[in-house]
Amino acid sequence: MNSTLRRTWAEIDLDALTYNYQTIRRKIGKDVRFLGVVKADAYGHGSVQIGRKMQELGADYLAVSSIDEALELRNAGITMPILILGHTPKEQVDRLICFNITQAVTCEAKAREYSAEAVKYGGTLKVHIKVDTGMSRLGYICEGDYFEHGVDGIALACNLPGLDAEGIFTHFAVSDEPGEDCEEYTKHQFQLFRDVICAVEEKMGRSFRIRHCANTGATVRYPETYLDMVRPGLLLYGYGEFARQWGLRPVMSLKTTVSTIKIYPKGTKISYGGIYTCDQTTRMGVVPYGYADGFFRTLSNRCSLYTGEGLCPQRGKICMDMCMIDLTGKNSVDVGSEVEIFGSHQPVEVLADLAGTIPYEIVCAVSKRVPRYYLENGNVVEKELMLRF
Ligand SMILES: *Cc1c(COP(=O)(O)O)cnc(C)c1O
Repeated sequence: MNSTLRRTWAEIDLDALTYNYQTIRRKIGKDVRFLGVVKADAYGHGSVQIGRKMQELGADYLAVSSIDEALELRNAGITMPILILGHTPKEQVDRLICFNITQAVTCEAKAREYSAEAVKYGGTLKVHIKVDTGMSRLGYICEGDYFEHGVDGIALACNLPGLDAEGIFTHFAVSDEPGEDCEEYTKHQFQLFRDVICAVEEKMGRSFRIRHCANTGATVRYPETYLDMVRPGLLLYGYGEFARQWGLRPVMSLKTTVSTIKIYPKGTKISYGGIYTCDQTTRMGVVPYGYADGFFRTLSNRCSLYTGEGLCPQRGKICMDMCMIDLTGKNSVDVGSEVEIFGSHQPVEVLADLAGTIPYEIVCAVSKRVPRYYLENGNVVEKELMLRF
């Protein structure tokens, strides 16, 4: 990769993405639609490039978290259906309609606001009703004593002028967690979701065109929850235990290079705070990857990076723009040598576990300073640098 951008970079393997998409598609069967979740810049992979690929591959829907994320896709020429999972201010309803963007409706107040704005604008807003079946975040509460009230509210929303209730959905809280309790909880959520759909459809005398609830965990563990469409994010990008179970491939590899190598005598303290002391003559490499690039400072002195001679322990506090790795005895690793932070040799899950977090957070944290290289058939087909210069 001959470029001035060769500092720290992310390689996005579009072939892996294609493979993952096609594998998931085959597993879910031809009657189930596929929504790809591309919120948060497609989990750090670049929502425009991922969205474009999804459209090219024939996915049915994309989902984002906000109108800004949706418009970014529309501005990039992506014409397929897009669902906004989060809140959109009512002042933006005209833009939603104008750009043919589907909006989640999460409560009666918003349904009424959206309806009034759509009528004022003289258009129809496509909406998906969000049901809270136990995630306790967004959506119509329908649990227990709230059931009738929830069902009435949803039916009311569906019949408001200016709204086209194309779909209905819910979100699972523990579909990716092991254990009987979680299984029971998920099954209860799904049953409640079905009961709500049934009651609303009966009340309205018509049915929803797209009912969906299966996130990554449910897509792999609960095929009975597919209904009309699955809605995975992480699975598509190939991380986590469920991706492994289905033999999917990680889409992102994060790489850097050795920028400097120095030899320190035994007893030398390394980096801020001097938390690491060399216990022998040490050949220490500096790599230009720090917490401003998305490295977790909490991993300081507790992780390793992968070089041509295997894993090298990271030493001392991770700084904003760089960190040190121990290259003692690994003499073929030189200035300019490539270092894998995570990827095919060191799965992102390893770093996530060490940091006490989930792969989602690690890939989302890769900052805008890190250029993304898009690879197809081993060739770079596109570069994205999110800095202006
Ligand atoms: C983020 C999100 C998803 C995707 O979750 P994964 O665990 O990545 O599959 C699905 N549905 C909703 C509502 C979400 O917010």
